[in-house]
Amino acid sequence: MFVPPAVAARVVLEKALRDKARSVFAERLAHYAAQLGVAAPPLRLSAARTRWGSCSHHGRISLNWRLILMPLAVVDYVVAHELAHLKEMNHCPGFWSVVQQLCPDWQARRRELRQLARQIPQI
Ligand SMILES: [Zn+2]
Repeated sequence: MFVPPAVAARVVLEKALRDKARSVFAERLAHYAAQLGVAAPPLRLSAARTRWGSCSHHGRISLNWRLILMPLAVVDYVVAHELAHLKEMNHCPGFWSVVQQLCPDWQARRRELRQLARQIPQI
């Protein structure tokens, strides 16, 4: 089978980034889950264009693998945000105080996420 080199490189790159994302995100989830006093939840990688993370009602956390292209501080904000949903399944003030506890400068990190989201390479 002939695979055009440009396509093959893209596939290889995405796989390498997904592998790295899986290990970094699992490590950060374990770190913040311990701080929150909960077991590290199962992780799924997502690829949504506009959504960086989500937390299901069953407590399964999905993180966008493209976050691996962002600084670790931004990844940590998304991880802390989704973990906080294990305590509060909404965005009420109680939810944000859990985020604050895990990630005191979450507001700056969220701003950075929004800025970087516009510049991220389209892999
Ligand atoms: Zn949320």
